[in-house]
Amino acid sequence: MYNAIGYATQTPTAPLTPMKFTRRDPRPDDVAIEILYCGVCHSDIHQARNDWGFAVYPVMPGHEIVGKVTAVGDKVTKHKVGDLVGVGCMVDSCRECSACKEDLEQYCLEGATMTYCTPDRVDGSNTMGGYSDSIVVSEHFVVRIPEKLDLASAAPLLCAGITTYSPLQHYGVEAGDKVGILGMGGLGHMGIKFAKAMGAEVTLFTRSEAKAAEAYRQGADHVIVSTDPQQMKAAADSFDFLLDTIPVPHDLNPYLETLRFDGVHILVGLIEPVEPALNAFNLVFKRRVLAGSLIGGIAETQEMLDFSAEHGITCDIEMLDIKNINEAFERVVKGDVKYRFVIDMKTLKA
Ligand code: NDP
Ligand code: ZN
Repeated sequence: MYNAIGYATQTPTAPLTPMKFTRRDPRPDDVAIEILYCGVCHSDIHQARNDWGFAVYPVMPGHEIVGKVTAVGDKVTKHKVGDLVGVGCMVDSCRECSACKEDLEQYCLEGATMTYCTPDRVDGSNTMGGYSDSIVVSEHFVVRIPEKLDLASAAPLLCAGITTYSPLQHYGVEAGDKVGILGMGGLGHMGIKFAKAMGAEVTLFTRSEAKAAEAYRQGADHVIVSTDPQQMKAAADSFDFLLDTIPVPHDLNPYLETLRFDGVHILVGLIEPVEPALNAFNLVFKRRVLAGSLIGGIAETQEMLDFSAEHGITCDIEMLDIKNINEAFERVVKGDVKYRFVIDMKTLKA
C-alpha cells in the first residue's frame, strides 16, 4: 500500500475537501499511474450529490484521467514505466460475459467496476477516482495517449469524448447524415466535433442564442434555439440522428418531431425518468427509435483517441486549481465553463 491524497466528499451536501488514503500496490496485471490531469464531468457532480441514489461515501470523483506510468505488475505487457496513459469511467469488469467478450465492458453482465464509487472486484474496497495524485488500474483498462494530443485537453476524451463518439459510430453516422446535438456543454461540444469529422451536417440545439457563434466555431453548420417553438417547428422531420446530452429531465416530444422517419434519438444525458411523458405517436407514426448509450468499451476508447489524434480533435478546456473544485461544480451546473474544467494535478501537490 502507498499513501495517496485526493479530494472527496463525505455526504451528498458536504463540499469536497482533501483526503489522505492508501492505494494498493500493483497486482500482477496492474499499472500504477501518477495523475497529471483529470477532467470534471457533470457525472462527478451527480455522484458526489447522490443524484442517482447509489453513491458510496466517501466519493472521490474523477474519470477523465491522464497520467504517467510509475510502476507495473510483473504480468503487464501493454504499458511500461514512463508511458503517457489514460483511464476513463471503468477500471474492471468480469471479462468473461458476452458483453466483455465483445469489447463492450461498459455493458458487463455482472456490472463493470467504475473508476469511483464501486467495490473493487478483488478486495471489495470502494474505488476512488482521479481527483487524486495517483491511481492503480488493471492494464486492460488503461489506454495509450497518442503523442500528437495535448495531455490536458485530451483528458476529457476519456469520458466526454468516448460517450459521444461511441453512439455516433454505433449508429453508423456517415457523410451527408443530418445530426442534431442537444446541449453544448462538455459532451455536446465533443459531439459536434466528432459528428463533423464523420462527415455529418451538424446542428446544435441550445437554449441560448448566445451560444450560436461558439457553436459555429466548434464546427456546427446550423443552430436551433430550442426554446423558440417556431425554430423547432421549422425543423420538423429533418434529422437522421439526435444526440441528447441534456443533464436534466426535459420534454423529448418536440425533439422527436424533428427526426425524419426511422430517425434515432440517442440519450446520453442521464435523466432518470423521462418527464413529461412521451407521446408514443411521435415514435409509432414515423418508426422513430428512442435509444440510450453508455460511454464506450476499452478498445473503442483507444480507437476514439487515435481518431482524435488523426483529426486534430481535443476538448476545449479551462484549467482548474483543485482547491477551487467546489466553485467549479457550481459553475458546471450553471453552464459557466467552455467546455470542460480540467484539474492540473500539480495544484494538489502544492
Ligand atoms: P454539461 O453540464 O457540461 O453540459 C450539459 C448541457 O446541457 C449544457 O451545456 C446545456 O447546453 C444543456 N443544459 C443544461 N441544463 C439544461 C436544462 N435545464 N435544460 C436544457 N438544457 C440544459 O454536462 P456534461 O456534458 O458533462 O454531461 C451531460 C450529461 O451526460 C450529464 O447528465 C452526465 O451525467 C451525462 N453523462 C453520460 C454518460 C454516458 O455514458 N451516457 C457519460 C458522461 C456523462 P445549452 O446551454 O447549449 O442548452
Ligand atoms: Zn463522465
